[in-house]
Amino acid sequence: MNVLVINAGSSSLKYQLLNTETGEVFAKGNCERIGIDGSFIGHEENGVKGKLEVDMPDHKTAISHVFEILKTVDQPIEGIGHRVVQGGWYFPESAVVTDETLGWVREVAPLAPLHNYAEADVIEICRDMFPELGNVIVPDTAFHYNMPEQAWRYAIPRDIVDKYHVRKYGAHGTSHRFIWRTVHEMMGDKTHKLVSCHLGSGASLCAIEDGQCMDTTMGLTPLDGLIMGTRCGTVDPATVFYLNRVANMSIDDIDTMMNKKSGLLAVSGKSSDSRDIEEGMNNGDENCKMAMEMFYYRTSQLFCEMAASMEGVDTMAYTAGIGENSVTMRAGVAKRLEWMGVKIDPELNKIRSDEPRVISTPDSKITVLVVPTNEELMIALDVEALLGK
Ligand code: ADP
Repeated sequence: MNVLVINAGSSSLKYQLLNTETGEVFAKGNCERIGIDGSFIGHEENGVKGKLEVDMPDHKTAISHVFEILKTVDQPIEGIGHRVVQGGWYFPESAVVTDETLGWVREVAPLAPLHNYAEADVIEICRDMFPELGNVIVPDTAFHYNMPEQAWRYAIPRDIVDKYHVRKYGAHGTSHRFIWRTVHEMMGDKTHKLVSCHLGSGASLCAIEDGQCMDTTMGLTPLDGLIMGTRCGTVDPATVFYLNRVANMSIDDIDTMMNKKSGLLAVSGKSSDSRDIEEGMNNGDENCKMAMEMFYYRTSQLFCEMAASMEGVDTMAYTAGIGENSVTMRAGVAKRLEWMGVKIDPELNKIRSDEPRVISTPDSKITVLVVPTNEELMIALDVEALLGK
């Protein structure tokens, strides 16, 4: 089945047209600066990249352009899958778009206002423009929906939890689900308790026992857990009250600081990109060194937290930009876990490949893999499962 996967943001729209049986990607791209001057589409087809400067005052125009561009691919579009950041308390799995499910995406939007409203608008536009195509909602939180209550519940009053739906939702669920699927295909019965480490500019770990999410490090929002490119990860929640009262910072100021000005960027004082930080460390920059050390430290700590939630761990998988590419980060995290029996082979760790692969030594107690994630394929497979071929 040929599926168009759409990942909409407030001013951007990523797309990918792929086939579920072969995994072949016919074309992909990103509409950028929607609603802003200087909008353009970066499009890639047959390995050739191009940039089209087109007017995109709104998402509807962007989608029209995408469908127009995709005509050159000469492949029928048979269904559309929409990544939705927050499925809230409604989506334990992906769902076909109906008035009801679309309403849910909007209802839970206060939990992810920068994403869900735009995503709901785009879903509605696609449904109206192409009524003959099925549309499917694939929430990034769905995989975590059924984690045990002790994992998702916060120890705050029940009436607040119930009225405002305050709980751990997690994120990167589509990626973690893909990682489980791939690891399970490779390892078969050798893997029961997996810690999936999605380390990109956003980063989260997920404890997965026999395909079921047992816990994850992101919380009500993707701000919690690991240190990320520009997000602080876990800090004492009282930091917010303190800064509000003492530093006279507004809630919005603190929100911006914690989401956009913290993390690796803040500690290194240099960049949110791990490549720059690694380079800085190699050139003797102490702040970059500390950013790297803190990343190893927190990742290894949270790895143990995930392992504890499953009362054990037999497999660890690295994925996303840093997890798939940074030899240094993988080695740094693994080193802090040596006491648990994690041993990676330095030569295997250095291999660059797009294939999933084992990088631990044969005598490592925990098998360590690098698994390139493919959220688009996972989304397309959900579309196929729900809409049929
Ligand atoms: P997201 O999808 O969350 O934006 P990615 O999964 O693309 O993020 O990951 C981005 C991160 O991956 C950046 O910090 C970047 O430095 C890192 N990264 C990408 N490629 C490499 C590489 N070759 N070596 C080291 N780090 C890399």
